[in-house]
Amino acid sequence: MARLRQEFYGLAPDDGILFERLCKEALHELGHNFGLIHCNDRECIMYLSNTVRDVDRKGLTYCGSCDGALYGKTETWRVSPWNRR
Ligand SMILES: [Zn+2]
Ligand SMILES: [Zn+2]
Repeated sequence: MARLRQEFYGLAPDDGILFERLCKEALHELGHNFGLIHCNDRECIMYLSNTVRDVDRKGLTYCGSCDGALYGKTETWRVSPWNRR
């Protein structure tokens, strides 16, 4: 987790950037929780980031195919009777 902080690179702390990176990591892990695998699309949140540069480059969203896969995985959850209000 330390590598996500700007200070680690000798730069000024930037909570905005840190927060954005944490959001991306969280969304990425959430994708794994729903059974998604790593994506080849560099802009996709499911792209495997080896460095923070990769994290910064990718967007905060899933690409079309990951979005579709996620939608499919959560379908059972969405149609469950106990989720209806
Ligand atoms: Zn991953
Ligand atoms: Zn993707």
